[in-house]
Amino acid sequence: MLVSAGDLEKYAYCPLSWWLSKTHKVVAKDGVTHHRNTERDLKDIQRKEKSLKFYERYILFFAVSASLIAVVGIALLYGEGSEFWKYFFVVIALLWLLNSSFFLYRASRTESIVKARYERLLLLSAMGAIIIAFFSILFATPANPAISRFAEILSLLWVILANIIFYRTLIMSDELIARKIKYAPVKGEIEYVGAAGEGEEIISEKYGIRGTPDYIIKLDDEYIPVEEKSASRDSPAFPHVMQITAYCMLVEDHYGRTPSYGILKYRDAEFKIPYERRWKTLVLALRKQLLENMERGEAHRNHHNAKKCEHCARRTYCPERLA
Ligand code: SF4
Repeated sequence: MLVSAGDLEKYAYCPLSWWLSKTHKVVAKDGVTHHRNTERDLKDIQRKEKSLKFYERYILFFAVSASLIAVVGIALLYGEGSEFWKYFFVVIALLWLLNSSFFLYRASRTESIVKARYERLLLLSAMGAIIIAFFSILFATPANPAISRFAEILSLLWVILANIIFYRTLIMSDELIARKIKYAPVKGEIEYVGAAGEGEEIISEKYGIRGTPDYIIKLDDEYIPVEEKSASRDSPAFPHVMQITAYCMLVEDHYGRTPSYGILKYRDAEFKIPYERRWKTLVLALRKQLLENMERGEAHRNHHNAKKCEHCARRTYCPERLA
């Protein structure tokens, strides 16, 4: 049976608190508003980051096409070259394309970081092949000054368009960095934004837990779950450590990569909670106890800490309260 990370957090505070939460819903308005605002903000950042990538592709497209059109223009201006150079460049271009195919083959058979490296090499190699192929056209095309002028003007307009889009992306990127820095390091990406809807929940059949972290950052090939709390604290609370560890377990199972830590963010402090075996063992033990309580149909206070009861949201109707 799947147990939610939120239930594990309540259970870690006090089993009775979790039990009472099933019949008495306590909604902390501040917390809900804070979470909704964060969710809205993050989704907007995610959307804009996608558009930014889209614009960047446009810039690349315009820049490459402008260069190609310019080369065609030059080719049409000068016309035919010698037979030797014509064939020389065709052979080099073919060899270069073979080289690109090799990188494509290696990239398709390699994983993660190495794959990215091969993809970059592939891109560079393919660009080289295109440039050399156009040189071969340069030495093989009959001269046509009118079309040459047209091609040069077109390439100029293309470059202007690429610059306008580039300027736009620069402004957008500055705005996004200023907003994103609140949630993630600049080089990190917002990979996932948790929402109240069922569809957003992450499930781990392996650990028997489910949950919706506030958000997940992708940083240097690692997925880091982040949980925000509206309270102020100067050290992480144990139930929150259990909750963020449960999220690390979900991330580990869902993405197939083990995070080295999760982040707990309070109103004015944030903590990196290492994803350690001792915490993981405790989460699994809590899950087991919770399911046993559920089967028995009851749960009781497991502490003698009156301060806990003082701060408990279910104190007013709790039959076992100490304060
Ligand atoms: S008031 Fe105390 S005993 Fe009751 S649920 Fe809260 S923490 Fe547990």
